[in-house]
Amino acid sequence: MCIFCKIIEGEIPSKKVYEDEQILAILDISQTTKGHTLVMPKKHYDKFLDMPENEFGLLMEKTQRIAGQIVRNLNAKGCNILINTGETAGQTVMHMHVHIIPRYDENDTVSFSFHENQYDLDEILKEIKEN
Ligand code: 5GP
Ligand code: ZN
Repeated sequence: MCIFCKIIEGEIPSKKVYEDEQILAILDISQTTKGHTLVMPKKHYDKFLDMPENEFGLLMEKTQRIAGQIVRNLNAKGCNILINTGETAGQTVMHMHVHIIPRYDENDTVSFSFHENQYDLDEILKEIKEN
C-alpha cells in the first residue's frame, strides 16, 4: 500500500483539512508555505495521467473550495495549485495529489523539494477550520 493510501486508511497519522467519501485533504508535512495542503482522491491512481477524466470535476471543485478557505482564513494573497506528474516532473509520492500552496508575498521561497517544516501544524489546522 502506498504512503497516502496508508494515510487514507488511518494507518499513518495526518492533519486533515477536509475529508469526505471520495476526497482527503491533509497538511503537507514539509509546509513549503504556511498552510501547504495536499488534496487527493481516496481511490489510488499513481499519477494525474492515470486518473479517469470523469473524476476530475469533483476533485477540482473540492480543491477550489478548500483553497478558498485556506486563503481566506490564513490571510494569504493567493495560492499556487500544482500537480507534479511523474518522477521527472518532481513527483515523489505515486498517489495522485493536488498541491495548494498559499502565497503571502511574491518573494515567498516556493521550492518543491523536501524541506523542514517550520510551523505548528495543529495551529494552522485550527486557523483554517475557524470559519
Ligand atoms: P510530490 O513531490 O509527489 O508532488 O509531493 C509529495 C508531497 O508529499 C511533498 O510535498 C511531501 O512533503 C509530502 N509528503 C511526503 N510524505 C508525507 C507524509 O507522510 N505526510 C504528509 N502529510 N505529507 C507527506
Ligand atoms: Zn495510494
